[in-house]
Amino acid sequence: MALLRDDCFDLGDELTPLGEALAVLSGRLTTVTGTTTVPLRQALGRTLAEDVIAPRDVPPHDNAAVDGYAVFFDDLDPEVETRLPVSGRIAAGHPLDREARRGEALRVFTGGPMPEGPDTIFMEEDCVEEDGTVTLKPGIKRGANRRFRGEDVKTGSVIIAAGQVLRAQEIGLAASVGRNELNVRERLRAAVFSTGDEVRDPSDEAPPGCIYDANRYAVMGLLEGLGCAVSDLGILPDSLDAIRDALAGAAAEHDLLITSGGMSRGEEDHVKAAVEALGSLHFWRLAIKPGRPIALGQVADTAFVGLPGNPVAVMVTFMRIARPVVLLLSGRRDIDPFRFRVPTGFDFKKKVGRREWLRARLVTGDDGTVTVMKHPAGGAGILTSMVESDGLIELPEDLGALDKGTDVDFLPFSEVTR
Ligand code: AMP
Ligand code: MG
Repeated sequence: MALLRDDCFDLGDELTPLGEALAVLSGRLTTVTGTTTVPLRQALGRTLAEDVIAPRDVPPHDNAAVDGYAVFFDDLDPEVETRLPVSGRIAAGHPLDREARRGEALRVFTGGPMPEGPDTIFMEEDCVEEDGTVTLKPGIKRGANRRFRGEDVKTGSVIIAAGQVLRAQEIGLAASVGRNELNVRERLRAAVFSTGDEVRDPSDEAPPGCIYDANRYAVMGLLEGLGCAVSDLGILPDSLDAIRDALAGAAAEHDLLITSGGMSRGEEDHVKAAVEALGSLHFWRLAIKPGRPIALGQVADTAFVGLPGNPVAVMVTFMRIARPVVLLLSGRRDIDPFRFRVPTGFDFKKKVGRREWLRARLVTGDDGTVTVMKHPAGGAGILTSMVESDGLIELPEDLGALDKGTDVDFLPFSEVTR
């Protein structure tokens, strides 16, 4: 199993733009998960660990694209109707049991394998068959309605590359070349904690001064969406010993530890000291909003990500920073989310020099054009704003004022949660 580099999360003390930080991660983080072979039915959502090389052509033979009649194009009269005897039948899975002959028409059905010779297929709707003879109109093109061997997949080609997450279409494609098992990455084993004396599990009472634990549930959902095997390790009190012991125990059994809260430098925030006692921790000075503080490090040989405490900051930093970490450790290489350029329906001012995310909703106008609207709540603790949004607007570092109607990058939640 690959080990983490000692310095993989060290960004130095400079204020770092997000793009640079992510490039550093891509360069330094290697896959830590092992591989396993699973039946195709269990491969959905898994990360492929092999290049799938096609052992055969798809389709494996030339075949009919329609129900109709197959003929030799050279038997057709280009000017007037042609009448040919119908003297054979080819259905899907039932090839002709002899060679095709000049001067005959063959009744064919979609998917039926084409023999040598007949190269053109008439759709049955365009033909009249009577007394064993079919009448064919002039004007068809040579090769019409025929599908070619290997037109989808050629033997020997890489049809799905290692590192690809397997969606329904990849599973279908693997099946189409006769693969019934695939070599995939083991799921990344991720342990999730919350911290804070005020934080309570929703199954418990919340006495005065306490809040329910939103973060752990949100983070577990995000990790499961990325294909991790998630362990729920509960809520840690604001106590150095308790946090240190819990992290040390979890590190032995997991590839990644994620906490939220307890990362600021306040006297009740002990996560920093605990991780430093067990390994190393780097507070990232990222030029972003929201999302500070965030820290990455190692507990023994297990990666550690310390997210902020406020639920929106937790989710946003997970989507844009923890997600790439998870994907890279899991063997995925497609870490950049799709972004869509969408015009804004509002003016906005931001501080130059940092990347900023706004929770946003897509709105379709009466004329069908889509604009993106910023959620009115700006606070990093307003979790309802995430529920009422479709995704994030990502504003670049160099942007200052944004005028209504300007195109911005919109990242649908679907693109930053898988
Ligand atoms: P902290 O970083 O621990 O100082 O937390 C910052 C803010 O986030 C505080 O208002 C916390 O109460 C809140 N917070 C921390 N952890 C959670 C959690 N698990 N669920 C909801 N809010 C939290
Ligand atoms: Mg706290």
